[in-house]
Amino acid sequence: MRKAMKLLAILSCCAGSAYAQGPAALTVIRAGSLIDGQADTAKKDQLIFVRGKRIEKVTGSGTEIPADARMIDLSSATVLPGLIDSHTHIFLWGEDPALGGYDANLLKAGIALRAARATYAVKRSLEQGFTTLRDVETEGAGYGDVEIKQAIEEGTIPGPRLFVSTRGISSTGGYNLEGYAPEITVPKGVQIVDGPVEARKAVREQLDHGADWIKIYVTHRSWVDREGRLVSQPTLTLEEIKAITDEAHGWGKKVACHAYNGIGLQRGLDGGCDSIEHGLDMADAQIEQMARQGTWYCPTLSVYYDDWSPMDTPEGKRDRARAAVHEFTFRKAVKARLKIVYGTDMGGIPWQQSETQDFPRMVEFGMAPMDAIRAATSRAAEMLDEKGELGVVAPGAFADIIAVSGDPLKEIAELGNVKFVMKDGVVYRNQIAAR
Ligand SMILES: [Zn+2]
Repeated sequence: MRKAMKLLAILSCCAGSAYAQGPAALTVIRAGSLIDGQADTAKKDQLIFVRGKRIEKVTGSGTEIPADARMIDLSSATVLPGLIDSHTHIFLWGEDPALGGYDANLLKAGIALRAARATYAVKRSLEQGFTTLRDVETEGAGYGDVEIKQAIEEGTIPGPRLFVSTRGISSTGGYNLEGYAPEITVPKGVQIVDGPVEARKAVREQLDHGADWIKIYVTHRSWVDREGRLVSQPTLTLEEIKAITDEAHGWGKKVACHAYNGIGLQRGLDGGCDSIEHGLDMADAQIEQMARQGTWYCPTLSVYYDDWSPMDTPEGKRDRARAAVHEFTFRKAVKARLKIVYGTDMGGIPWQQSETQDFPRMVEFGMAPMDAIRAATSRAAEMLDEKGELGVVAPGAFADIIAVSGDPLKEIAELGNVKFVMKDGVVYRNQIAAR
């Protein structure tokens, strides 16, 4: 609690001082080392000129600095673009069985408590250097993400810029809550549809109410079969998926597709999904199809190492199989040069934990540190149709800038200790520079 209060003080103090200068004031950041989100190597001794919300120019250290510019000295630090997490659930508060698991999120918390927790989640995310999130459905909290986004945009609460997908879509038997007596009506974590007409209507409703993305589930239950292979239950039919992607694409929006493996994942690919979420176990032919179609891959490695059931239970076997095949598939995807974005599934992981824990795992599983950084910056921006606007430290881009003390190219875990955060030209955290 005390820690949270202190954080709030930091956030309000720094945001306030930046606003006081006025939006058109010039700020110049002196970067000891700059990883710009695009280039293959870091540049030394750079100056980043920030005016209002945008980066004006990036130059070598010899450039003249106007006398009235505010200086931020990050000459001892490595500066990077603000990070992008492409798979979060700001309305989910962990799934620890001891705390009631997933179900408690929907059954034990009213909408105000859930909004308060989401407010905590976005603040915590920003504090760790994430200036943009693609939040992939609210888990029963309706259109709450659209309103949290509005609260951030109007300056009521601190948080990353949000790309939201509202309710999510699956079919009957294709999502929690489940396992209750059939006589009892329980809420569902997503909007349930059956048939292409209902599927298309759900997309229209969600886009009408402010969804930036559509999130669908094409697999649901998973288990290990007699041969020890992971199996997942397909949900939406190809016909339903095609109705969804056709409608969303007509609005200029994209479809994120939760898929573990097998038939469901194949339908997602054949149905024209834009990103595969998790993709725990992808066959070589499916990886080839993704490369051909330009499908984005958003692995979520760390969440599958959380909360394993005991080894000798069916759930325990499933939990271990999911992590093992995910590593194998991730390694294949890196080799195949799929378009990979950084995703954590935070919310499935309690928000008190680190949002950066996937970086070391991606590098451990064969990704170059610079590619892991690009997965969370320029690559993700490209998926979000924000190329050049987000995920880069370059002229014209939004001034979303972070810094760490060490060199994340040598030690990727450095990203777990972000000490400076600027979003839209406003400083939200500064534990490095004298100002
Ligand atoms: Zn998720």
